[in-house]
Amino acid sequence: MSKDEDKIKHSKRIHQKESVVKNKMKVAKAYGWQHVLANPHKYLKCSLFSCGNPNCIFCMNPRRAFKEKTMQERKSDDKLKADKNKDE
Ligand SMILES: [Zn+2]
Repeated sequence: MSKDEDKIKHSKRIHQKESVVKNKMKVAKAYGWQHVLANPHKYLKCSLFSCGNPNCIFCMNPRRAFKEKTMQERKSDDKLKADKNKDE
């Protein structure tokens, strides 16, 4: 049995997705991209400007391109260094 709250939450989620698609279609129309306009929901969770190639230097995560460490990796490295300094 679904309550009114659940129904409102569900419709809110649908509305959020639809508004994201709508905004992306505005951009696609401005650029005149027919491949995006043909299937709008394909680009819901990815960028319109991505070419689709994960190894593309222009579209990939810049941190990965420059081989920098993630925040999580840096934090764990700092912890390890701090622990080493304590032991000495
Ligand atoms: Zn690319």
